[in-house]
Order: sequence, then C-alpha cells, then structure tokens
Amino acid sequence: MFAGGTILMPDVAYGRYPRGGRTLMLRRAGLDGIGGDGTITIGAMVTLSAIASSGLEPLAPAAADIADPEIRAQATVGGNLCAPPGRETPRGDLQAPLLAVGARVRSAGPGGERTESVEQFLDRGEDEPRLVLAIEVDRPRRASYLSQRRAHAHSYAVLSVACAETADGVRVAAGGAGPRAVRLSAVERALASGAAPDEAATDAVDGVAPRDDALASAWYRRTVLPTLVHRALEHFFEGG
Ligand SMILES: Cc1cc2nc3c(=O)[nH]c(=O)nc-3n(C[C@H](O)[C@H](O)[C@H](O)COP(=O)(O)OP(=O)(O)OC[C@H]3O[C@@H](n4cnc5c(N)ncnc54)[C@H](O)[C@@H]3O)c2cc1C
Repeated sequence: MFAGGTILMPDVAYGRYPRGGRTLMLRRAGLDGIGGDGTITIGAMVTLSAIASSGLEPLAPAAADIADPEIRAQATVGGNLCAPPGRETPRGDLQAPLLAVGARVRSAGPGGERTESVEQFLDRGEDEPRLVLAIEVDRPRRASYLSQRRAHAHSYAVLSVACAETADGVRVAAGGAGPRAVRLSAVERALASGAAPDEAATDAVDGVAPRDDALASAWYRRTVLPTLVHRALEHFFEGG
C-alpha cells in the first residue's frame, strides 16, 4: 500500500523494498475526507498536517510534532497507524493517541470489510494485510499528549504518552515503549481505583517491553516512562 510514501520511498531508495509484487497507490482512492460531529471519521489518506490543524486532542499535538511541514503534508494517518516498527527509531506516533481515545479502524481485506478497535487492529499480526479505509474517533471529554524527544529538526519521539477521558473512563497509552504503541492498563486500573497521578505512574512499566534502538536504550525508556506518564497525567487533570 503506497500512501504518502514517506516510509516507503526511503525504503525503495535504499533497496529495502522487496522487488516484484504489486503496489496499491492510494492517492486517488477517495479516502482523504475528515468530518463528523460526535464521531469524527478520518479517511486513511488524511495528511498529518490536516490532523495537526484539526484541533482534535490528543491527535493534533502528536501530529504537529512529527518530522517537518514537508513530511506532514505528504504523510498520512493510515500510513502512520500501519508504520512498521523502525529498526533505528520508533514510528507510528499517532498510535498512542488513537489507543487513548478508543478509536476504531475500518479496513478491507480477506473476509471483506470490518470495523475493530485500534488494539485489535494492531494485534492482528504481520501476515494479515488489510487496507485501512478510515478511523473513527469519539471526541474525548479531555485529553493530554506529551513526548520525550531529542532536539533535532527531524527528532523522532523516544517516548510519548497520550491520555484521554472517554465514555469508558480514563485511558492511557504510550508510544516508544515497545515495537508498537501500547495501552498502560495498570496505570488505568490504578487511576480507576482512586490513585493520585504520581502513584498511578509508578505502574507505567508493568507489561511493557521497551527496546534498545539508535535513540535510547530499553533501560532509559523504563526509567523515564513513569516520569513522562506522571507529567502527562498532571497536564490531563490540570486541563480538566
Ligand atoms: C525525515 C522523517 C522524519 C519522520 N519522523 C517521524 C516521527 O517523528 N514520527 C513518526 O511516527 N513517523 C515519522 N516518520 C515516518 C513517516 O513519515 C510517518 O510515520 C508517516 O505517517 C507514514 O505515512 P505515509 O502515508 O507516508 O506511509 P507510507 O510510507 O506510504 O506507508 C507506510 C506503511 O504503511 C502502510 N500503509 C499506508 N497506508 C495504508 C493503508 N491505508 N492501509 C494499510 N496499510 C497502509 C504501507 O503499506 C507501509 O507499510 C518520519 C519520516 C521521515 C522521512
């Protein structure tokens, strides 16, 4: 699937893209609409710059932090959701905000069209290719997003944390704490049982499996994640 090509084109240029096979070009597939009142439907080909200026929390600040204006004008939400984990850096910075808001993914593939949660979509495994058509998001009551990154024009997030209050309660998710973003269920449970943000944040590393890469070690990520979660929760509760 070729969306904005900001991952695929460098792969082609460096000879990492397998030869042969077929490529589905999505630019004119009519998947670039965004709209809705209560539930917002975001077509898979909506660009990161459109998300950044949408005002939709916590997706907008996450999109605004990705790469630079040129990349954001090309890169799409579908490509970001489906970004294969990078060898040198984490990728898919919108995954954590999408998990936090409890977004749903509408996709087509073997067995036809289906709608499922982002968690189910991300857990489906590499051997089940699906074409993302759209993502559905209910606007959260409040939300926050924070990332830890190195100062650089193209700084990738070492770690990121998104929080959102939905009809199901407060949901918290982290990017950079594993090959793909994960929900921090232990933090959510602690908050639901009345723990303060600093207490709940100590559970942040439960069940996460950070990796070493060119940006940071797994040890660094384990050490910093609780602090980032604590700060994101403080922003979340102060903003409410
Ligand atoms: C300089 C630079 C800096 C970057 N910084 C960041 C960063 O900070 N954070 C970050 O998250 N990413 C970053 N990226 C990576 C990339 O730009 C984004 O992840 C982007 O959102 C990918 O979207 P795309 O449309 O360009 O995807 P593409 O390159 O077109 O595709 C990426 C993958 O997604 C699949 N795909 C695309 N669309 C669909 C669909 N509709 N259904 C199913 N599969 C699909 C493709 O098959 C491919 O495997 C950076 C890239 C560059 C070049």
